[in-house]
Amino acid sequence: AESVVIVGAGQAGFETATSLRSKGYDGDVTIIGDEPGVPYQRPPLSKAFLKGEPDPESVALRPLDYFASHRIDLRCSYPVIDIDRTGRSVELVNGTKVGYDHLVLATGTRNRVLPVPGADLPGVLYLRTLSEANELATTISSCSSVVVVGGGFIGLEVAAAARGHGAEVTVVEAMERPMARAVSETISGFFTDEHQRNGVHWRLGTGVTEIVDKGGRAAGVRTSDGDVVDADLVVVGIGVVPNTELADRAGLAVDNGIVVDLHLLTEDPTISAIGDCASYPNTAGTGRLRLESIQNAVDHARCVANRLVGNDLPYQSVPWFWTEQYSSKLQMAGLVTGYDHTVLRGSIEEGAFSVFCFAGDRLLGVESVNRTRDHMAARKLLAAGKTLTREQVADENVNLKALAS
Ligand code: FAD
Repeated sequence: AESVVIVGAGQAGFETATSLRSKGYDGDVTIIGDEPGVPYQRPPLSKAFLKGEPDPESVALRPLDYFASHRIDLRCSYPVIDIDRTGRSVELVNGTKVGYDHLVLATGTRNRVLPVPGADLPGVLYLRTLSEANELATTISSCSSVVVVGGGFIGLEVAAAARGHGAEVTVVEAMERPMARAVSETISGFFTDEHQRNGVHWRLGTGVTEIVDKGGRAAGVRTSDGDVVDADLVVVGIGVVPNTELADRAGLAVDNGIVVDLHLLTEDPTISAIGDCASYPNTAGTGRLRLESIQNAVDHARCVANRLVGNDLPYQSVPWFWTEQYSSKLQMAGLVTGYDHTVLRGSIEEGAFSVFCFAGDRLLGVESVNRTRDHMAARKLLAAGKTLTREQVADENVNLKALAS
């Protein structure tokens, strides 16, 4: 391909461009984004960014001059609204057309909007973009009470940050346990306790039916059991929706994400889709995966960049993820959905342990709290397809890293 056009200037889009250059690709590289400024990292937005004075420069993936010096044409602020697959060009909302030999869709996700009355009142904030993070950071440091709707990773990181500023915090979560979609019961239990120890009020198994309106501003939420929880700030973190409309309009298959094959190609051999917006075959199990993580975005991007420089290999990577809440850093390797038993290594009481999740004899994933060494070994073990016995896992004298190599 003589020119690669990337739609979406997030982690995956940026990594595609930078990988192409580092692998010696010499053609034109264009990134088209719809957010102002240079591509940035999202993970700090719910962590360090909310703690002190927000510093937008601290999250930039590269300074602006990097793009020019690497011949990456970074165009921001105008979204792509149309793909002409026959003519091989994309159209921006301002009417500009950009031709491509290969197109990479890295459009990410957007926040799911809380479908209740009052959800659009001032005082209801979401967190995905830098501009949302700026607003949240200034608000959270000065408010006295916060309701977090949604006990997923982002909601819980925001809850921890709000406690750090001394606000009263209530987390309302519809499921019976937090982060239920992604972690084992042991991890949910540990973080439930951890938030409680830090003064968070839990409302588990509880929905939100309405945002309370007081003089045109959010003043709290009404819950599914009829209670009102007062707050000067409501933060909603109830998951995301993949940005697939562009692909859909271009006639590409969409199934909870833009459908790609093991090479991350859509049915059109000149269009790839990667990162949060891509639905790809699950080689470690059945069905398709659409993951929302930095690892997934970066590894997808590198796989596509490799293909575009002539090194075409099927996508194969062990998923990993992390979250930080108070002084507990959770790192996960593999995917634990469908586990039937777990084996513990380390001590929950001391806040340093790993949960090994198995389906039968097969190790699905490992969740480590303040045990980075276990996490790194787990990534290697899973990549090598090694199986472990319960005895090996539970025995602290067994060196996991040695088993992996
Ligand atoms: P995105 O980062 O969403 O980028 C897509 C970009 O494309 C966006 O800028 C979007 O506006 C743009 N776009 C969409 N449509 C168009 C269009 N038509 N034209 C032009 N541009 C378009 N992951 C972790 O692994 N660990 C963490 O601790 C972690 N913490 C997180 C904390 C927060 C607050 C958030 C929001 C996410 C976090 N994540 C974390 C998830 C991680 O940030 C995402 O998985 C990652 O950003 C996905 O990258 P992406 O490039 O696929 O999508």
